[in-house]
Amino acid sequence: MRHLQLLTLLSLLLVIVTPISATFYTNSSSIPPLHLLNATRSAWKTFEKLTGCHVGDKADGLSKLKQYFSRFGYIPATVDNFTDDFDDVLKSAISTYQKNFNLKVTGKLDASTLGQIVKPRCGNPDMIDGTSEMNAGKKFRTVARYSFFPGKPQWPKRNRDLSYAFFPLNNLTEEVKQVFARAFTRWADVTPLNFTRSESILRADIVIGFFAGDHGDGEPFDGPMGTLAHASSPPTGMFHLDSEEDWLISGEDMSRQILPVTSVVDLESVAVHEIGHLLGLGHSSVEDAIMYPAISGGHRKVELAKDDIEGIQHLYGDGGSSRLSETSGGAEFWRGLVFSLSSIATCILLICC
Ligand SMILES: [Zn+2]
Ligand SMILES: [Zn+2]
Repeated sequence: MRHLQLLTLLSLLLVIVTPISATFYTNSSSIPPLHLLNATRSAWKTFEKLTGCHVGDKADGLSKLKQYFSRFGYIPATVDNFTDDFDDVLKSAISTYQKNFNLKVTGKLDASTLGQIVKPRCGNPDMIDGTSEMNAGKKFRTVARYSFFPGKPQWPKRNRDLSYAFFPLNNLTEEVKQVFARAFTRWADVTPLNFTRSESILRADIVIGFFAGDHGDGEPFDGPMGTLAHASSPPTGMFHLDSEEDWLISGEDMSRQILPVTSVVDLESVAVHEIGHLLGLGHSSVEDAIMYPAISGGHRKVELAKDDIEGIQHLYGDGGSSRLSETSGGAEFWRGLVFSLSSIATCILLICC
């Protein structure tokens, strides 16, 4: 594992040609007004003009849309000749995507489907080798929605104390590093896992770095919005974020403001999601779950949902967190019993009187 990580780090150092400094906003008032006006920019905004397209159509931009579906696993890797024809391959990809994102399955590019496609999202695919453990791969709609990587990789049992380090060339401030520390704590709270910061990227289990464009791992970033970050499955420990995003580190939910700022991305929300991948979780179709693949600009979502907790505890157990809730549940029981007994005693007294 260390060799793989070392090779990756060396390849990253060799291909880095662009300065890797990301922009972090410590509060919403520090965001330039231009960003407020430019709030709808998106790497995939051009897809919206394809609204209404269906099988048999030919339209500029469909080839790019096929590349999008291929990137996230909806078109098999064996298909690489992307034309502007709306063919059965595209229809099948759209139908599967609609199932995964709880949309009406039409196989057409309706407004709600394209509205979902243009949202910024995680760069990890929803489907691997043509299979999905999101909605499209579930036999019954009532089963759990969380998913794993193929083969269900996880950190070995002997390694419950994981270390993480930051790519030194990013020169991150302590304030930014604390955002990641908080994100790790959310997973540590519901598992037996512990996370500690290391100053050595060679010794750390997990290495976090901000990169721009092509950064040597075959998964180039695409500038503002579009894909925001990606992370590897255990035990590789690679966590990359797009340095060209405008990252918000204040913890504010900008979507609730009168003029929502959709061009900034809440760093902690993305960090909690990507740590889920680093620990072995795939994407979930539950919109409230941290492991749902997309997040709108300006939104903040950092609390683990029931689906996330069930998924991660399937891999690692609860680390005693459920025992705590059982204890508090037991206290509730006794409080309820005392209340019931006192109510019965009151009734008997009333009857006797
Ligand atoms: Zn993801
Ligand atoms: Zn990467």
